[in-house]
Amino acid sequence: MKKRTLKVFVDFDGTITLEDVGERIFRRFGCAEKTDKIIENLLSDKISSRQCWDELCNSVENANKKELDNFIDSIDVDPTFVPFVKFCGDNEIELIVLSDGFDFYIKRLFSKAGLTGLKYYSNTLNVNEDGKLTAEYPYYDSGSPTSANCKKNHIINHSSDDDCTIYIGDGNSDKDAAQYCDFIFAKNDLLKFCSKEKISFYPFKNFIDIQNKIIELMNKKNLRKRHHAQLKRKAAYLAE
Ligand SMILES: [Mg+2]
Repeated sequence: MKKRTLKVFVDFDGTITLEDVGERIFRRFGCAEKTDKIIENLLSDKISSRQCWDELCNSVENANKKELDNFIDSIDVDPTFVPFVKFCGDNEIELIVLSDGFDFYIKRLFSKAGLTGLKYYSNTLNVNEDGKLTAEYPYYDSGSPTSANCKKNHIINHSSDDDCTIYIGDGNSDKDAAQYCDFIFAKNDLLKFCSKEKISFYPFKNFIDIQNKIIELMNKKNLRKRHHAQLKRKAAYLAE
């Protein structure tokens, strides 16, 4: 039997970094109280992710590119992520980062960690001359309100039915996308969501846990795909 190709999709904020960088930026450069209120509205499904980012951008009066860069430089990626990227490369496992955050800090943090050339999809943030922030959503899909960058579409575009797909995430923007993958690694809000919805998943603390589990999966003779993920993928194809 043909060995299945493994594909890994990973969230960024709170998964590759230990804290939510996007949220921290708006708490620091906008208003902490307003930021909390806007995020609360997102988490209770009162607003979509895109509305959430637009409102957060509007809450910033005066941002400065240099101060933003310095702030981002005070943050690190999870140190266990770097060897995990090497592990995937050594084993020819394609790794794609799917973020509902913004390109400018993802790129900067990857470069700081020596991770150049990693494939990622995210939203775009512009720091304008007048100190205002504006966001762009090149991968927006109105059918996916929980993520302004439609993660599900990237998963479908980057995998075939023969591949075995793995999703790694922690939060709101992962809830829909993770269900299109065969294996889910979850922590925090995504873990609670999967438990509540009875979606099978592996809990994780860091990328060492994930790597060990993937080695176990690679050693299995017959990797079973998740039936519900197949049904979701099929429905998505038919809807196109
Ligand atoms: Mg996250």
